[in-house]
Amino acid sequence: MKVTSCLLVVLYLLTIYVTRIDVRSILQNSIDQLVSNSFDDDKLNLMHSSISSYRHRLEHSTKFQALRWSLRKLKNDELCEFCDLMVPVIRILIETNRTSHLDDVLLFICKEYKKIEQNVCIGAVHEYKDAVLETITTSPLNNKGLCAIAFQCEPQFDFPLLKWNVTLPDKPKPQPKPPQPPSPESPKLTVLHLSDIHIDFAYKPGSSADCPEPLCCRAGQPAPNQTGAGFWGDYRSCDIPYWTAEGLLKRIVEIENIDFIYYTGDLPPHNVWNQSRSDQLYSIRTINQLLTELFPNKTFYSAVGNHEAAPCNMYPTPNIRSDNISWLYEVLADNWIKLGLSADTRESILQGAFYTTIVRPGLRLISLNMNYCAQENFWLFINSTDPLNQLQWFIQWLQYAEDHEEKVHIIGHHPPNSCLTAFSWNYYKIVNRYENTIAGQFFGHIHADEFTVFYDEIDQKRPVSIAYIGPSVTTYSHLNPGYRIFTIDGNYPGSSYWVLDHRTVIMNLTATNLYNQTIFLDEYNARDAYEMKYLFPNDWNDLIERLQNDIDGPLMSLIYKYSRKSQSIDCDHDCRRALLCKLKSARFEDPHACDSIPPF
Ligand SMILES: [Zn+2]
Ligand SMILES: [Zn+2]
Repeated sequence: MKVTSCLLVVLYLLTIYVTRIDVRSILQNSIDQLVSNSFDDDKLNLMHSSISSYRHRLEHSTKFQALRWSLRKLKNDELCEFCDLMVPVIRILIETNRTSHLDDVLLFICKEYKKIEQNVCIGAVHEYKDAVLETITTSPLNNKGLCAIAFQCEPQFDFPLLKWNVTLPDKPKPQPKPPQPPSPESPKLTVLHLSDIHIDFAYKPGSSADCPEPLCCRAGQPAPNQTGAGFWGDYRSCDIPYWTAEGLLKRIVEIENIDFIYYTGDLPPHNVWNQSRSDQLYSIRTINQLLTELFPNKTFYSAVGNHEAAPCNMYPTPNIRSDNISWLYEVLADNWIKLGLSADTRESILQGAFYTTIVRPGLRLISLNMNYCAQENFWLFINSTDPLNQLQWFIQWLQYAEDHEEKVHIIGHHPPNSCLTAFSWNYYKIVNRYENTIAGQFFGHIHADEFTVFYDEIDQKRPVSIAYIGPSVTTYSHLNPGYRIFTIDGNYPGSSYWVLDHRTVIMNLTATNLYNQTIFLDEYNARDAYEMKYLFPNDWNDLIERLQNDIDGPLMSLIYKYSRKSQSIDCDHDCRRALLCKLKSARFEDPHACDSIPPF
């Protein structure tokens, strides 16, 4: 049976469902047909044996991430077709108490969509089932709304449930005061940004680096015409071995003179289809123990990544009864305090893994849990309105900081332009309101080295803020390992705490594997490389204008090269436009953010 005929059956069933004729028996017959007509006995036996073998392999695996990973190979319109097909079928199965057929129906659909690898599909279907059922049963969104939030099949703002607004205090916004350069001899702070370490404790040098799973370099022999996984790491779909992370961290201890560290999450590896809670806790405890030993007197200001949860990405809000995340937040609170946070952050971390603390006199840090903004967190499909009131809490602290003449640095894992639309637009509005107070924003998650500029909501040409998206320590994928050093104005009375410059260091993985010793490279200094006077919002906007005027020129080549941590240099005109557009889009689904980029 072809997808089209399957679709017809679905539409037929849907019509019956929608017109509310009580034809349960017809529905059941049709579903039986849908399921059993598509497979002969041999195929059914084969399918059931592969499901059971995969089940065995996936005993402790995640529910969601494997399907997400498998779907990533599809283009958006294919994904939307897939979503349009799946959601009504699942609703019918729920309505007729026949969810036991879900495996078969979804497997059938995966099979028809040959781009989804069979084994991953089988595992994913099995793994996703319970949470998908709960989400679809409980979410007030209709089918189109679910596909809009999951795969951007339609603009999220077309659905009133996905559109919500935070409340700003009555106090009027003060007159904007753009940052001014400090005197050259004023004191500076040096801040290390570490992100996305993703150590693979099962990394096996010489194993297959090109495998059908989401993460390789852990098992199997390389194909005869291919090289095996490098000793220090591999550019293909692999995370880094422990010794490579250790080598990079030891280099920082030896060479860099730092005051404190911004540490923005994602410690576990990408074997997301078979991770348990104890696997995640092992990664968290082992990596943090190494950091405590290597940096005994430094404070790490931590933020939580999407990979710390099990299943990956799944951060239930308190209204989700079937799952809770306290197992993780308790360990994070212990670990983060051990890494230098003051003990009074514990209560806040236990509640939602976000907190605020004072870094230096006049500098407040706010660490956000961006998993409550992320579309990969399917629990938000049930209710995505300011989960845990985090943004309202954020506003309160920014107002407190404004009232007490403090400056604020924000750290988080997902950059705000990768959040669900309403979260992202609300965040943008908050940054607009508190532009005089927010002196820095630091995120990770992308693994590439990027930044994004915020503009005035009214005068859309006036830049108001900049978010730095730091490079990953992991190579995943096709990247060199890296870290970032920020030079910041402070610490003295009246410090602006704005970033004055940053320097990025990479490990040259090719040379490291070749000479069998870690080889590092000072990749670039932002001000020098991009010929910028300072790193204030105006300077970043000026850079963007120069890039817009010469998309195919050498400066844009440099931006692309550094975004890939010098691992790739080829980026055609469309690729350049897409990257430039990202640098200008601090809001998700902003239809006009890139209007000023010349079309061709
Ligand atoms: Zn990551
Ligand atoms: Zn991440």
